[in-house]
Amino acid sequence: MRVLIIGGGGREHALAWKIAQSPLLARLFVAPGNPGTAALGENVAIAVDDIAALVAFAVAQRIDLVIPGPELPLALGIADALAAAGIACCGPSRAAAQLESSKAFTKRICDEAGIPTAAWAEFTDAAAARAYLADHPAPIVIKADGLAAGKGVVVAASDAEADAAVSAMLEDQVHGASGARIVIEACMTGPEMSFFAICDGGTALFCGTAMDHKRVGEGDTGPNTGGMGAIAPHPAATDPVIETVMATIIRPALAAMVARGTPFRGFLFAGLMLTGQGPKLIEFNARFGDPECEALMPLLASDILPVLHDTARGALDGGAKVAWHEGAAAAVIMAARGYPGGYETGGLIDLAGADEVPDTEIFHAGTRLQDGVLRSAGGRVLAVTATGPTLDEALGRAYRAIDRIGFPTGFCRRDIGSRALEAPAP
Ligand code: ATP
Repeated sequence: MRVLIIGGGGREHALAWKIAQSPLLARLFVAPGNPGTAALGENVAIAVDDIAALVAFAVAQRIDLVIPGPELPLALGIADALAAAGIACCGPSRAAAQLESSKAFTKRICDEAGIPTAAWAEFTDAAAARAYLADHPAPIVIKADGLAAGKGVVVAASDAEADAAVSAMLEDQVHGASGARIVIEACMTGPEMSFFAICDGGTALFCGTAMDHKRVGEGDTGPNTGGMGAIAPHPAATDPVIETVMATIIRPALAAMVARGTPFRGFLFAGLMLTGQGPKLIEFNARFGDPECEALMPLLASDILPVLHDTARGALDGGAKVAWHEGAAAAVIMAARGYPGGYETGGLIDLAGADEVPDTEIFHAGTRLQDGVLRSAGGRVLAVTATGPTLDEALGRAYRAIDRIGFPTGFCRRDIGSRALEAPAP
C-alpha cells in the first residue's frame, strides 16, 4: 500500500512509526514531515493547508491511503477533495469535521442523540446571554463556538468573570468570527479522559484512552498548552467505562451524523469528564490527540494499516481488529523554553545517549536538521515515549531517556502521570 500522512508533529511521527512496521506498506510519504519521519519514509515539502498540492501529489504518486493528522486540512476539506479524486482518506469530510470546528453543532448533535453532556444554551446576542447568566449563576462555562487554539473556553468561578467572558467574546470579539456565537454550559466536575474511536461512518472501534496534561507547569499550574505529556491507558478506563462511552457517546454520535447525511469517518476523539453521574462529553475532536497518539501507538499490538484502510473504505464491519499490549505508556513532551509563550528556536539537541534506554521511542514534534545538526524548530519539540509493565516503570524509562537527551534550551514537566499514580485503583 502507498500511504501519505499529512502533518509534521509528534502525532504524525508516531503514526508513521507504527505504519512503517506494517507488512502491507509499500511506500510511505509524509507531508511535510520532520527529521523523525524522514528516517521512516519520504518527506514531501507540501504544507498541511495546501489542499490542491496535497491532492495533486496523491494523484501523481497513486496513493492508496491518505491519513490527515491535524485538524486544519480536515476543516479545509481535504477528505472531500480526495474523494472527488477517487483517493481513500482516513479522515472526515468538512461537514463531519464540524464535530470539532463548532461547539454549538456538537451540542445540537448531543441533544438529538441523547448524549450525556453539560446543560447548555447558545447565543449571538450579549443581552440574551446576560439574561441567561442571571438565571444560571457561577460556576459556569463560556465557550467561543469556533476554533480558538484552546483559548476559547472560560471556566468562570464568579458571575463577574462570566460577564467579562461574554463581553470579551460577543462585544469585543477577541476571538473574531470564532467567538461571534458562544455556548454557555453548566460546570461539570471530575477527572478528564481522552477517549478514541476509529469510525468508518457506521461502525466504530474502540481505539484507546489516555490522560493528557494540558497546563505548562507542574501540579497543573500555568497556562494551557497543546499538551505537555500523556499516559495511557487512562487509569479509570475499565471495560464497563469503555463500553458505557461507546454505547452512550460514540455510537449515538455516529448514528446522528449518518442521519444528517454527513457520516463521520476517521479518528473520533471524545474529551470526557468522569462525573458522579457517569462519563459526560466535554468536546469532540475530529482527529487523533497529540500527545495521546505518541503514548498509544507503542501500546498498539495489531497492525494499524488494515484498520485505517478499512476505515477509509467504510469497511470496518469486515472484522478489522485493534489489539493492545499489556502494560502502560508515558509520553513526556520536551518543549522549548518560553513555550507556550514566545520561545526560542534553533536550540541544539543531542539524542545520542537516549537510545540505550529500553522500550523508549523519541518522536519528533518540532525539530529540524541543519547541516547534520538537530535543532529545535517549534514550541513542543520532542515526545519521549516509553512503555513498561506498569505506569511507574514506563515513566521511569521516559525520564531516564530525557536525562540522557542533550537539549539545554528545553524543559519538561517532571510530574507527568503522578496524579494517576496517586489515584486509588478504579
Ligand atoms: P482544547 O483546544 O484544549 O481541546 P477547547 O478549546 O476545544 O479545548 P474544551 O475542550 O471544550 O475546549 O474545553 C477546554 C477545557 O475546559 C476542558 O478540558 C475542561 O478542563 C474545561 N471545560 C470545558 N467544558 C467544561 C465544563 N462544562 N465543565 C467544566 N470544565 C469544562
